[in-house]
Amino acid sequence: MATIDRQATTLALAHALSAAERGLAVLPLSRAKLPALRSPHHDDPGPACHGECGRFGHGVYDASADPARIREMFAAAPWATGYGIACGLPPYHLIGVDLDTKYGTDAPAALRELGLRHRFTIPETVVVLTPSGGRHLWLTGPPDAVVPNSASRLAPGIDIRGAGGYLVGPGSRTDHGVYGTLPGTAHLPPAACPPALLRLLLPPPRTSRDPALSHGDHGRGLVHFVLTAHEGQRNTRLFWAACRAYENGLGPALATPLTEAARHTGLPEHEARATIASAARMTGHRP
Ligand SMILES: [Zn+2]
Repeated sequence: MATIDRQATTLALAHALSAAERGLAVLPLSRAKLPALRSPHHDDPGPACHGECGRFGHGVYDASADPARIREMFAAAPWATGYGIACGLPPYHLIGVDLDTKYGTDAPAALRELGLRHRFTIPETVVVLTPSGGRHLWLTGPPDAVVPNSASRLAPGIDIRGAGGYLVGPGSRTDHGVYGTLPGTAHLPPAACPPALLRLLLPPPRTSRDPALSHGDHGRGLVHFVLTAHEGQRNTRLFWAACRAYENGLGPALATPLTEAARHTGLPEHEARATIASAARMTGHRP
C-alpha cells in the first residue's frame, strides 16, 4: 500500500506545473519512478488503449502540458512524489541522454569519446543530476525524426530516452533521493541535438539488409564479445551484449548462449542471469 506524503506530492505538482509552463508534457510518477496511475484496463485484456477511453493510467500517454489536467492527475494519484517529462513531443521533441554510473561504467567519458570519434560536442543545455550520481542531458530533436529509446546501445551506461520514453523531472523525489538540476542549467533552453549525434541515435535504414542473416552474425558477435571479456569487464560486457540482444529481438534466443559465455569467463551463473534479466528490464522486456 502506497504511503501518502502530502508535502512531497505538493512539491512534485509544483515542479510539474512549472515544467508544463515551459511547454513540457508531464505525468505523475511514484517513488519507484513509474507512472503513478494504474492502468484502468488491468482486468480487460482487450485491444491496447493509449488513452482513447478518456481515463488516466496510460503511462506516458497521459502526459499533458495542460495545468488543469496535471492537477487532476495528481489529485487522482496522491501518492505521487515525482513527475515524468514525456520525450519526443512538440514543441521540443526532447531527447534525453541518460549517463549512468551503474555497472562500473564511466558514461560521461564514453560520451566524450564518442564525440571525438564522431566529431560532435554536447552544447550547453539543461542537465539533471540523479540521486545515484548519474546525469540526464536534455536535447531537442527535429520534429520529423523519431528517436527510439535504447539502453547502452551507444556505449555501456548511455541510455537514450526518445519517443514513448520519459525523463524523471527535476524536483522529483524517489526511493533513492531527489532529482535536481545542475546549477546554472535549470533555465537554459534545451539545446539542439548535434546532427552527428542524432545520426547515431536514429535506426539504420532497413533497406538491403537480410534480417535473418544479420541477426545470426549479430548473435555470434555478441557471444564472442562476452567470451573475450577480461575479468574487470565481464559484467559490463555481458550487460551490453544482452541489451543489444533484447533490442534486436534476440534476447530469449541468446539468454542461454550469453550465460554460457559469461560462465566461461568465470562469472557465476546466478550473476550472469541477474545481469541478463536486468538488461531485459532496461530494454523494456520481460526477463
Ligand atoms: Zn484506456
